[in-house]
Amino acid sequence: MLQTPVNLTLKDYKSDVKPTWCPGCGDFGVLNATYRGLAGLKMSPEQTVVVSGIGCSSRFPHFMKTFGFHSVHGRALPVAQGLKMARPDLAVVAVGGDGDFFSIGAGHLVHAALRNIDITVVVMDNETYGLTKGQTSPTSPHGHVTKSTPYGLLASQFNPIATALTLNVSFVARGYSAKPKELATLIEKGMLHRGFSFIHALSPCPTFYNTFDAWDASVTPLPADHDPQDRIKALTLAMDTERQYMGIFYEEERPTMDQAAQQLAQQGKEFDIDKYMSRYA
Ligand code: SF4
Repeated sequence: MLQTPVNLTLKDYKSDVKPTWCPGCGDFGVLNATYRGLAGLKMSPEQTVVVSGIGCSSRFPHFMKTFGFHSVHGRALPVAQGLKMARPDLAVVAVGGDGDFFSIGAGHLVHAALRNIDITVVVMDNETYGLTKGQTSPTSPHGHVTKSTPYGLLASQFNPIATALTLNVSFVARGYSAKPKELATLIEKGMLHRGFSFIHALSPCPTFYNTFDAWDASVTPLPADHDPQDRIKALTLAMDTERQYMGIFYEEERPTMDQAAQQLAQQGKEFDIDKYMSRYA
């Protein structure tokens, strides 16, 4: 995936646009970790594209000095996948929040996982809809009281890591925005992974649902003896409701859809849309 290594500093990945997030927003930590991860990989900004949907965290591409695409709600993954299929030489990172990936764009997550296209997904999860002032999101806990759920959330809480594992995602990890160095390492490893990499980044919203204290207490590294090829054990750890494990839950190398498409093209098996459509002429 690395094309032309460049020696740059963190500031070389920062755009001139100042982040508009609230002071203390967890997304600052994820942004910092992304700068670090790209610098650590010596990625060329010209060969990197950051794609987002809609939400506070989806402002992300504006703050990067890479190529970027701020798309529409829940659609970061279709854009990112199409981009990678058309331009396999580029490193493609899709970013967004829990609403974008687990509600509005949840269907896209399922099929992107099954395709195993070589892109990296960073989900900034704050367990709320920050942009629209604090309604519940799929990852809000059962019973969560907000202005739109005055008697507490009646639905169950979505489990991002367990879902990614059962969708057969080939790289599954969790980090925390308050630990940007560790998160940067996960972003590096996710980008180096050949296939669909899913990084669940806990990223609190201090304005509408401040989970910093709770997560400071519950995040813990994965057990030292965890084998990232053991998906069943990874699933057991993902189902732990007391602790939020950080690190690489699961990693597996297997063929990617972009690789397979390139191989078909080399064999002259490109899809001929004109020939197909001529049947209906
Ligand atoms: Fe961050 Fe919450 Fe402010 Fe949005 S509303 S910028 S998620 S702190």
